[in-house]
Amino acid sequence: MSDCEIGLIGLGTMGAALALNIADNGFDIAVWNRTTSVTETFKSEAGALSDKITPTTTLEELVAAIKPPRAIILMVPAGQPVDDQIAALRPLLGDDDLIIDAGNANFRDTNRRAIDAKGLPFLGIGVSGGEEGARFGPAIMGGGDRATWDRVSHILDAIAADFNGEPCAGFMGAEGAGHFVKAVHNGIEYADMQMIAEVYGILRDGMGKSAGEIAEIFASWNEGPLQSYLIEISGKVAASHDVATDGPLLDVIVDAAGQKGTGRWTAIEAQHLAAPIPVIEAAVVARNMSARRDERAKAEALFGTGPQPLGDGALSIETLEQALICGKVLCYTQGFGMIVAASKEFGWDLPLPEIAKVWRAGCIIRSSMLDDMSASLAENPDRDLMFAPFFADILSNTHGSLRNVVATAAMNGIPLPALGAGLAYFDTMRTARGTANMIQGQRDFFGLHGFVRLDDNSSDQHGPWANA
Ligand code: NDP
Repeated sequence: MSDCEIGLIGLGTMGAALALNIADNGFDIAVWNRTTSVTETFKSEAGALSDKITPTTTLEELVAAIKPPRAIILMVPAGQPVDDQIAALRPLLGDDDLIIDAGNANFRDTNRRAIDAKGLPFLGIGVSGGEEGARFGPAIMGGGDRATWDRVSHILDAIAADFNGEPCAGFMGAEGAGHFVKAVHNGIEYADMQMIAEVYGILRDGMGKSAGEIAEIFASWNEGPLQSYLIEISGKVAASHDVATDGPLLDVIVDAAGQKGTGRWTAIEAQHLAAPIPVIEAAVVARNMSARRDERAKAEALFGTGPQPLGDGALSIETLEQALICGKVLCYTQGFGMIVAASKEFGWDLPLPEIAKVWRAGCIIRSSMLDDMSASLAENPDRDLMFAPFFADILSNTHGSLRNVVATAAMNGIPLPALGAGLAYFDTMRTARGTANMIQGQRDFFGLHGFVRLDDNSSDQHGPWANA
């Protein structure tokens, strides 16, 4: 007893995979699960790794099986289960023993738990990559006390994904910083998925492409600047065959997307921070609208058919690719911008180049573009990504394609909420003289809120609106 390097609670999809990954990297691990039969099955199915795994049936046994000062990972559903588990575990632990919440906690809960820990070691870490990532190398975003992170970073580095010899595990900052960065990751994930789905819509409804043809297009894009896990799996999803109908599996899947709410958290938090992330927000809204199938069917019947075929040669495959590249850069620009806003708001000093590095492998949004982003952010972490020369060039070269795609789709009734939001963001950003002067005039008219004059920069000016 007392010889395991680390413990883990919660042998569900992620916890089981993470425990095997830890054992696979040579660390002895003690595990406990609320339902004991799950622990027994896990041990019996661990095969060659079984020797590295100590199954336990009570929390006391779990604690006793780990070398002090202990480290115990929680991999249970976010929310109350985490609080309950901490409450059950803490009285059994010593003052140096560390609890690590590795689930998808809301970062505000992690902030609160860090305070509630009253100086006892606690880390909140975001883990991305799904089951396969957890088993063979996830991206890991840590938050809490730096010295506490350093205590377990050798284990986290070992189990994390590897990009050119560098582990995709990084310390993000105090308290909930790791879970915050994970939330933004998930927001970007929502947006990336939505933009791919929108382009799929143009290919299917506007260009009449079959699922098989779309699979080939995505596979070819995966060889170029769009190379990414999400493009790769989108191609594989489109290529998959349904045995029951002998047709594409994609064609028999209901068009209502599920969600666990992390994208929504990102959108809500962005509003608190006044950080503009319209592409991510549009993706969250699109998921919500996808669930309204009955209403959409009713509206299609009332207002006429939905998406119409595009004219011959209206858009090329290359134009679609360029538009998606543009949308993707704008989406990341917004995501990193939100991280900068949070860094200021919470005093976290979030390391932008490090974040891009951690996202290069293991996580769902991994892509070749993230390597270029980490290089650009390393040159100047304070610069908005859209002003980094490499990405400014990409935007200059691709925004025409995005405009063409959004305009053509609009004229043919094909909805592109996320790509359209990206274009509006770009156009808003490059309009030096905007239209908020009208809003300031309206606000002063009805509420005497005052405005600033352009000609003398004096504030708290009011109009003689009655003269109108
Ligand atoms: P699962 O539903 O597969 O497993 C949940 C685990 O938690 C089970 O071991 C379950 O035990 C245990 N559990 C559930 N409720 C409680 C409770 N009240 N008290 C103690 N233990 C409990 O979940 P996942 O493995 O998918 O997710 C775990 C965490 O990881 C979540 O926060 C999730 O958001 C996050 N995550 C998930 C990803 C994924 O792709 N699935 C990706 C990244 C993060 P029992 O066997 O007794 O039911």
